Amino acid sequence: MANFDTRLSKVVGAKTASALSKNLGLSTVFDLLHHYPFRYAKRGERTDLDALEIGEHATVVAQVRAVTNKPMRNRRGSMLEVIVSDDHGDSLTLTFFNQPWQTRYLRAGRWGLFSGKVTEFRGRRQLNGPEFRMLADGDDDDSDMIEEFAGALIPVYRATGKVATWIIARCIRITLDVLEPPPDPLPVQLRSRMGLTDYRKALQAIHRPESEQDLAAARKRLKWQEAFFLQVALGQRRAAAVDSPAVARPAREGGILDSFDAKLPFTLTQGQRDVGAEIRDGLAQTHPMHRLLQGDVGSGKTLVSLRAMLQVIDSGGQAVLLAPTEVLATQHYLTIVEQLGDLGRRGELGAPETATGVALLTGSLPAAARRDTLARVVDGTAGVVVGTHALLYEGVEFADLGLVVVDEQHRFGVEQRDALRAKASQPPHVLVMTATPIPRTVAMTVYGDLDTSRLTELPAGRKPIDTHVVPAQDQRWVARMWQRLREEAGKGHQSYVVCPRIGGDDDDGAPHDETKRRPPLAVVDVARELESGPLNGLRIGTLHGRLPADDKDALMRAFAAGKIDVLVSTTVIEVGVNVPNATMMVILDAERFGVSQLHQLRGRIGRGSAGGLCLLVSEVPAAGPSGERLAAVASTTDGFRLAELDLEQRREGDVLGDSQSGAKSQVRLLSLLRDADVITAAREEAMPLVMADPSLADHPQLAAALTQLVPEDNAQYLEKS
Ligand code: ADP
Ligand code: MG
Repeated sequence: MANFDTRLSKVVGAKTASALSKNLGLSTVFDLLHHYPFRYAKRGERTDLDALEIGEHATVVAQVRAVTNKPMRNRRGSMLEVIVSDDHGDSLTLTFFNQPWQTRYLRAGRWGLFSGKVTEFRGRRQLNGPEFRMLADGDDDDSDMIEEFAGALIPVYRATGKVATWIIARCIRITLDVLEPPPDPLPVQLRSRMGLTDYRKALQAIHRPESEQDLAAARKRLKWQEAFFLQVALGQRRAAAVDSPAVARPAREGGILDSFDAKLPFTLTQGQRDVGAEIRDGLAQTHPMHRLLQGDVGSGKTLVSLRAMLQVIDSGGQAVLLAPTEVLATQHYLTIVEQLGDLGRRGELGAPETATGVALLTGSLPAAARRDTLARVVDGTAGVVVGTHALLYEGVEFADLGLVVVDEQHRFGVEQRDALRAKASQPPHVLVMTATPIPRTVAMTVYGDLDTSRLTELPAGRKPIDTHVVPAQDQRWVARMWQRLREEAGKGHQSYVVCPRIGGDDDDGAPHDETKRRPPLAVVDVARELESGPLNGLRIGTLHGRLPADDKDALMRAFAAGKIDVLVSTTVIEVGVNVPNATMMVILDAERFGVSQLHQLRGRIGRGSAGGLCLLVSEVPAAGPSGERLAAVASTTDGFRLAELDLEQRREGDVLGDSQSGAKSQVRLLSLLRDADVITAAREEAMPLVMADPSLADHPQLAAALTQLVPEDNAQYLEKS
């Protein structure tokens, strides 16, 4: 008998086990049984033989139609040519050099599995010398085939040239035969409530289904298990956070937060007030707050986070705000300094008693200034510290770090969060802000260990952004567009022109197709053409990631100060750049950007009272998928709707990262795109269970199953998403 931990060499023999391990990374019974078929073939089913990709390793189920063995014309030997086809007439040629005896198996009318590298000869798809196994048809000696492929559904495994799908099928059959029924990690009440089959049966049926229903039940159960494990693991993370001690940072009357609120030039939106209250309470707890703040661009997140930072300062602590780039860090710093006014000038003449200090720490700070800033951070003079993520890995010490605010979480992983927590004697509170609306399923999985708040309304008086698609071929439209941009400049407003690529010498890895389309438009070229053409006479600046940090800063400062009319740029302006006087954005080759990205980009305009105009310029036909995508972006400013759309259009792998394809990954069947129901239900089951029993003492089988999962893998899964 074998269990999950048994080495495969004990079950299928050393040689096969070594091949499974080397080629597929499968070394234990557990690994093998969780290597699920990636599809199921049926005799007679259409296999789309014409769609096989040249150069790929493919396995097809097909019927032998004709067999001819002819002597070779130019050399000695013979060539066996076999035509196979599915029931729909697509056919494929198999060729075997000097193997006349294969006719013994390859008889017309018989079905088989054929596996090999797809080649092309005279316009026809071929498999040269493929490996094959004939399916049993009742009256012959292929008894092992009867056992491997007894059902109507033939499992097809991701295989390699070295380990064919039928080898895997045989190993699995042998393994299932000797497997002691594994303990079921799903609590029995849960299973009966949700109508889930037991573990052993599900494993049997996913590999050797007797019917479609049998298979569906197996998939449901195993998918549920994946979702449930994920939610239990996230619940445990959350429970651990609740468990660990933190310094409470309660609000204090008459402090800097009150002074700040008193002089705010506007009233907070209802959302800002509600979220503000959640954060105020979270900071007052003696365990760390871990909160995700989602809000569309311009919804006032930065202000909410600043108020949280001030509360922490009121209770004697410091707060740090981390941004993904130096440009953004600098921008945040300037905004905060401006919004605080004299409340940020601690130590200066005439500053109020409640004032604090604000410090900016970036990599490009000159050594002397850096020493000085570090000193203000370590002695606590600086209550607010703004910096890039690099801050985590440098020798920055705080007097008393109470709150970490992270802007744009999607560029900031779990590992960084952990590194930062280590900077304080007790874990600080953490507030993560993101302007990328996160679809519900992603919020529940990737960010499932965080509490979430959403800002759904924009501050009053904000004019909506008008978005239109401009066909690049239409010269009149394009001319009118540049004219319009000149008019904005004439009114003293500023504009952005966004291109997918930097240009100049080489590429920056921006969205770039391998097809024969012309290369994407580049900042450097476009700026030159606009300067000498339609925007002649305007003050034009170029901004992209290859500029030295100093130049970028200087440029952004000049733009913010209104010394530049038009900023031609890559997506470096995507997040956080805040110049309320900018009213127009032209996005060139707009189809090269994702839906969420376009939405982020246009969030840079219409930040003031003047409203904004965003033009998506593209050559793609309006009726195609790309055209429809652009039309969708133009039709709504609902970031959450667009995020769902984006998720639908991305491929699964892009969402989950590589972890899904890895042999050891735990998420095989679950899809963030299609399984929102399963994820929601699993979360509802998992959370109360973990909150009541965080160590899973009452669920030993579940606890054991979770430890069997590779722990880094879980982190990686969260990281990559
Ligand atoms: P986000 O970080 O969500 O993109 P910000 O906090 O940067 O948004 O706010 C965008 C702009 O709106 C800033 O200029 C900010 O001062 C202003 N703002 C924030 N809250 C309000 C409000 N309640 N009423 C009016 N303006 C606001
Ligand atoms: Mg912001």
